[in-house]
Amino acid sequence: MPHLFEPAPTGRAKCRGCGRPIRLGELRFGECIPNPFAEGETTLWFHPTCAAFKRPEPLLAALELAPEQLESASDRESLRFTAGRSLAHRRLPRIDGAERAPSSQAKCRHCRQPIARGTWRIRLVYFEEGRFSPGGCVHLACRKAYFEADDVWARVLHFSQDLSVADQEALAGAFEA
Ligand SMILES: [Zn+2]
Ligand SMILES: [Zn+2]
Repeated sequence: MPHLFEPAPTGRAKCRGCGRPIRLGELRFGECIPNPFAEGETTLWFHPTCAAFKRPEPLLAALELAPEQLESASDRESLRFTAGRSLAHRRLPRIDGAERAPSSQAKCRHCRQPIARGTWRIRLVYFEEGRFSPGGCVHLACRKAYFEADDVWARVLHFSQDLSVADQEALAGAFEA
């Protein structure tokens, strides 16, 4: 089966990209992959924006095949642009949000120095065999050097929706500092 877009027939499925539910009737993106555990194929469901951030190749392929299913041309252009950035900078799809380090145990994947407890770090994930696996963290200050891109903020915020409003504001301040 090709990748596809369709309105979600229930509100029960969770997005593989952000872990949040996809609402009933909301447009969802399905990435069709060989089933890693059995014969046949399986479909991974995403919010289209989450797929543009984390799974750019299949999303772009689906945009080519079924663009008329998207509500408006602006949606399509914005998804295409975001996915294009994800493809152009191969580390950007690894962004999985930000958090304050719960301990000083982890080392930054860029500079190899410890990330101090209580300071902000960006979580990384890798997509392998049909699932996202945790891949460590980087210092907020190492983001430009690691991701080799300037447009990191929107992605980090998108995958940090579990933070309180106050924490999101603190994170925004840390980005500007
Ligand atoms: Zn999502
Ligand atoms: Zn670092």
